[in-house]
Amino acid sequence: MSDNCIFCKIVNGEIPSRQVYEDELFRIIMDVSPATKGHVLVLTKKHYRNIFDLADIEASRLLVLAKKIAIAMRESLKCDGINIIQNNESAAGQTVFHFHMHIIPRYENDGQNMLWTPGTSDAEELESLAAAINKGFVAD
Ligand code: AMP
Ligand code: ZN
Repeated sequence: MSDNCIFCKIVNGEIPSRQVYEDELFRIIMDVSPATKGHVLVLTKKHYRNIFDLADIEASRLLVLAKKIAIAMRESLKCDGINIIQNNESAAGQTVFHFHMHIIPRYENDGQNMLWTPGTSDAEELESLAAAINKGFVAD
């Protein structure tokens, strides 16, 4: 629990939320300002600021859970697609600094746009960026 963290308060029941699901590691709630009908947030029960300090146990279970929610959404909401978005730090749009993942059902012509503007690249730049990222990779 981190002081004054709104998602810690939701996980602890101090602030009400509309719960979809919970297990020992996660609580899934409805987003109060949904991008589309059915937008949910997967919150870790433990306080992690974002992906940079997320423990491997939550990291390894997260996508399995997201997959199950995606299938449940397609079945129950009859959505046409799903976006999974997870923001880390303000430069990337994070506004609540407690780890969470957005699962957003998409409907044809729902008026939302979560795509980026494609940029440009050249072979040399791609090569050096690939090498830089690979160098920073810490294997288990
Ligand atoms: P992010 O910009 O990735 O940090 O997303 C934060 C998300 O939390 C936004 O989509 C908000 O609408 C959502 N949010 C903030 N407060 C609450 C709350 N009390 N209950 C449910 N969702 C919330
Ligand atoms: Zn928190």
